Amino acid sequence: MMQMGPGGGRERGMGRGGGRQGLGPVRECRCPNCGYTQPHQPGVPCVNQACPKCGTRMVGV
Ligand SMILES: [Zn+2]
Repeated sequence: MMQMGPGGGRERGMGRGGGRQGLGPVRECRCPNCGYTQPHQPGVPCVNQACPKCGTRMVGV
């Protein structure tokens, strides 16, 4: 009783987690490109802010 269908449905891609982003209070927004930093504005995610120098999206630090 061994049936090996073509394709073998093996889909296991749901176990993805453990990213450490968005945890903890963000104090500053930093540009990963040029290193420019500016105070984080409450209510405005850093990723929604563009670096005034190079236009890269900022990241919270
Ligand atoms: Zn920049």
